[in-house]
Amino acid sequence: MSINIQIFEIMDKCIFCKIADKEIPAGIVYEDNEIVVFNDVNPQAPVHMLVIPKKHIESLNVVDEYTDAGWILKIFEVIKKVVKEKKLENNGYRVVINCGKDAGQAVGHVHFHILGGRKLSWPPG
Ligand code: 5GP
Ligand code: ZN
Repeated sequence: MSINIQIFEIMDKCIFCKIADKEIPAGIVYEDNEIVVFNDVNPQAPVHMLVIPKKHIESLNVVDEYTDAGWILKIFEVIKKVVKEKKLENNGYRVVINCGKDAGQAVGHVHFHILGGRKLSWPPG
């Protein structure tokens, strides 16, 4: 019985939880106890990283400003750190959260895209 539950939990885990748990490989750029940053597998710019909380949260719609306050505060510090390491801070970069179907959110685990290394057009498509 407990084996079946464990198998179900593994099968049910989202792809970004599997990356955070090292069950599937990714180019990890930064990690701490709450946050992981890794390279997007299908980069849309010379630098394209994804920043995620390790906690599984489906989308921005269900982020809770109170219970999630710890990683929310830290995530901006982490974004600035990796942006600096990739030398994007002077030329600029874009941070994007896609939420829901109209924005084309494909992975149901809240994530911040960091895009840089080329001129980014505006408005986005
Ligand atoms: P979304 O459209 O949900 O905002 O973005 C999902 C992003 O996750 C896409 O840019 C996609 O390329 C990336 N992605 C999807 N699956 C994987 C994966 O297995 N590994 C990595 N590194 N990125 C992924
Ligand atoms: Zn997840």
